[in-house]
Amino acid sequence: MRQIRDIHQQRKSEGKPAFSFEFFPPKTEKGEEALFGSVLPELQTMAPDYCSVTYGAGGSTRDKTLDMVERIQKDFGLVCMSHLTCVQATKEQIAQVLQDAEKRNIRNILALRGDPPGGVGPFEATEGGFAYSKDLVAFIRAHHEMSIGVAGFPEGHIACKEGKEIDWGRLKEKVDAGADFVVTQLFFDNEDFLRFRDHMVKELGMHQTLIPGILPVLSTRQIQRFTELCGASIPTPMMQRLEDLSEDDAAAAAFGIEYAVGQCEELLKEGVAGLHFYCLNKAHSTLEVVRALASHR
Ligand SMILES: Cc1cc2nc3c(=O)[nH]c(=O)nc-3n(C[C@H](O)[C@H](O)[C@H](O)COP(=O)(O)OP(=O)(O)OC[C@H]3O[C@@H](n4cnc5c(N)ncnc54)[C@H](O)[C@@H]3O)c2cc1C
Repeated sequence: MRQIRDIHQQRKSEGKPAFSFEFFPPKTEKGEEALFGSVLPELQTMAPDYCSVTYGAGGSTRDKTLDMVERIQKDFGLVCMSHLTCVQATKEQIAQVLQDAEKRNIRNILALRGDPPGGVGPFEATEGGFAYSKDLVAFIRAHHEMSIGVAGFPEGHIACKEGKEIDWGRLKEKVDAGADFVVTQLFFDNEDFLRFRDHMVKELGMHQTLIPGILPVLSTRQIQRFTELCGASIPTPMMQRLEDLSEDDAAAAAFGIEYAVGQCEELLKEGVAGLHFYCLNKAHSTLEVVRALASHR
């Protein structure tokens, strides 16, 4: 199975962006049927460069994540990356997950610290586990021949009270620990991403691939909840429009597509190496956005 760093390298040499789609392990059988029976087949037609599957809080989806990554690779012929967190896991348990992943021909890991169980309070490292994702990155790099991605935060990580530039400096540490590329948290103001990119490249001398994370909004309530959880901000004019559409999810989703297309067009003009779409296990919005960007591929 191909490694994502090689895919990025190839796309870069072709002067084309890499497009990737992110999914989460469905909680129900119905959700699984929908994902594998219609969402993935529809999105496959967009020929993504790779996909990724999230890792549930507290490692709750460990087997499901690996099963899903394996199935996407086998049944759809797509390169797929497994997310992996340090939450409630010792080094030995993480080593087991990585060995299991390797046996399943999984060659790409998004190395994350994860959030505290329940999403509240400060993160506390498990005894015998890792405190920060940079430690997980170093561990994977030392023991496995895998391509490693890490998370970046254009507005700074929500728990980093020292300010975003301190958080960006820590991102540089995880890259220096052995990460090949960075995928960002969702953001809606491209200026946030461009300031972040400039700082990483010009101030910190980071040259690893930086991929913006794009979320086509599906509903007003949902995006309010997401942004509260992850700390991303919604520009005032966008929020006003979404508030006007708060009772009409179809209209909010249509606006979400229009907004994401504009955002992506501008980012592509800025020469980003790729776009990572948070699909939320739905096909329609990502399909529409990617179709609208066809001339860039
Ligand atoms: C693209 C993407 C995908 C994600 N996928 C998942 C997923 O699948 N499952 C999931 O549970 N979560 C996921 N998350 C969320 C992520 O786990 C959380 O944002 C988490 O709080 C931080 O993870 P991290 O890997 O960035 O942590 P870290 O890089 O370890 O950083 C966490 C915090 O610690 C601080 N820090 C880092 N190093 C130090 C240090 N040396 N001293 C003091 N402070 C330090 C940082 O500034 C930051 O505030 C994802 C996020 C993104 C952007």
